[in-house]
Amino acid sequence: MDEAKKRALIEAMAAAMIGHAEELTALDQAIGDGDHGLNMKRGFEAVLADNDVIAAKPLPDALKAIGTTLVMKVGGASGPLYGTLALALAKELPADPSRDDLARALRGAIAAVKARGKSESGQKTMLDVLEPVAAALESGADPVAAANGAAEATIPLKAIRGRAAFLGDRSIGHMDPGARSSALLVAAIAGVLGGISDGG
Ligand code: ADP
Ligand code: MG
Repeated sequence: MDEAKKRALIEAMAAAMIGHAEELTALDQAIGDGDHGLNMKRGFEAVLADNDVIAAKPLPDALKAIGTTLVMKVGGASGPLYGTLALALAKELPADPSRDDLARALRGAIAAVKARGKSESGQKTMLDVLEPVAAALESGADPVAAANGAAEATIPLKAIRGRAAFLGDRSIGHMDPGARSSALLVAAIAGVLGGISDGG
């Protein structure tokens, strides 16, 4: 993957998190502690500030740098989890991944997030978006549509992991903030990779 594309990916992810920080915070105010927007904004501002250095690295090294920055800067539960996701992708992806490589690497990274979070799909977390995205990549479906539909589908779920689990039944009726940030990141990535939805 060339440097311009890596640079554009980082810009798009950062713009999505910075531009939706208030929305993510509002979602987290409903079922958490109201910091998810600020957490993600802080993390991706730090990644963006390092874009020149990160984008010049081969993709696996760039992902390693992103994951390390997210672990250090994001804080909260989501920092280590998104950091784990990026670090696992760094281990699994070649420098020039195909759609099949992405699907396989995402499956491996999801397993790493589950191990880190002691979590599973269906518990109203980011995993409820990441798993359908991996399935869409495998089946040839549109990952962005899958991500957006899956984030909506967290609304009726009861939270079993994360802070929202403390609310029990009162977590029902709200979209999970981490599911929404995952869907926003997927849309940002797909927007740059373009032909990703048709096998590119
Ligand atoms: P915190 O919950 O520490 O305030 P954030 O608000 O930044 O951290 O992130 C909350 C999001 O993290 C949740 O909406 C959920 O998607 C995700 N999350 C929390 N705990 C877990 C877990 N154990 N496994 C997977 N995702 C989780
Ligand atoms: Mg929070």
